[in-house]
Amino acid sequence: MTQASDFLSSNFLKIGGSATMAMTQMARDMRAQGRDVISLSMGQPNFDTPLHICEAAVQAMAEGKTRYTAVDGIAELKAAISEKFKRENGLDYTAHEINVAPGGKAVLFNALAVSVSAGDEVLIPAPCWVSYPDMVRLCGGLPVLMPSRAAQGFKITPEQLNAAISPRTKWLILNSPSNPTGAVYSVDELRALANVLRDYPHVLVLSDDIYEHLIYDGLEFATLAQVAPDLKSRILTMNGVSKAYAMTGWRIGYAGGPEWLITAMRKYMGQTTSNPSSVSQWAALAALSGPQDFLKDWRMDYQSRRDYVMSHIEPIEGLRCARPSGAFYVFVDCKTRLKGKSDAELALDILQETGVATIAGSAFHMDGYLRISYSADQKSLEIAFDRLAAYFH
Ligand code: PLP
Repeated sequence: MTQASDFLSSNFLKIGGSATMAMTQMARDMRAQGRDVISLSMGQPNFDTPLHICEAAVQAMAEGKTRYTAVDGIAELKAAISEKFKRENGLDYTAHEINVAPGGKAVLFNALAVSVSAGDEVLIPAPCWVSYPDMVRLCGGLPVLMPSRAAQGFKITPEQLNAAISPRTKWLILNSPSNPTGAVYSVDELRALANVLRDYPHVLVLSDDIYEHLIYDGLEFATLAQVAPDLKSRILTMNGVSKAYAMTGWRIGYAGGPEWLITAMRKYMGQTTSNPSSVSQWAALAALSGPQDFLKDWRMDYQSRRDYVMSHIEPIEGLRCARPSGAFYVFVDCKTRLKGKSDAELALDILQETGVATIAGSAFHMDGYLRISYSADQKSLEIAFDRLAAYFH
């Protein structure tokens, strides 16, 4: 008998689906059943989109800016992105070198879709954001995970990179600050990786800078194209407004990169999504070109919540976690508290017993961990950590 899977593509059948979305959905369902659930599984800011950004969207609608736009972004937004790259990253990208798509996720997928052929390898430091390996599989490529342990700050070394590159390597994906670990690569660490990449001109680099503004302890953000300008012609510098400006639902991501790649991505979008939402593009323009001072306040707020969370994890016996320097996650080693369970079973048990939703490390390709998001209000964090302390007592 014909089964549903007979109709599904071989590439599609290789993917697992987003574990973060599954856990978030489960927390939502429990809440709908009347359970008191605190979600620390979220990958989004707990702030509201600032009013001046919302007002720009309202104005755009009132002015009738509601039709199809240029496929990969309106000229005004591209100009603001070009200015952002210059101002914040010291990078020059013209309009022809900029792509705007419906979310950072779409930017990444479009870049892979136009460049990855069957059997091409994509190097991904692990633990990694859940979507990278499945995006590569959807494009027919092979994700090659490079494990980076807690002892190495969850960062890959130049030696590891050198050993992982093969003639089939198409891309290296770098994500700093990292989801799920919060690890941040320093300028020196990026320079050391660049030294390796110089020997392999066939390797492209995707720099996922989506958490750029969420960086703590006075650390400076650095991105590969800035640190190694001679490699800029094979780097896609990707970013977006979701995490920095609390705009996850608006779906605007962008990237700067070589013109041949940007042109291919535009062609691909022209036959798939077409343009990102017109109204959201005007909102993103207001975000990137409007006041930036609130970002500093938000950063301080996240940093103090990170410190709160760290000070409440440290006393729990058997849980270990290095203080993350960026993003809004802690990646907690819970191996000694698994008691025969997998980390996914532990996360489920915690949710059912305490109503606190976290995500298992295995979803990020590193077993024996829990990713806990501190992008929740302080009161919720306090209740959640009281419950977690009681659970692990
Ligand atoms: N990259 C990383 C590492 C992320 O964590 C996310 C979102 O969770 C994205 C990219 C995509 O963000 P968006 O599609 O909302 O712009």
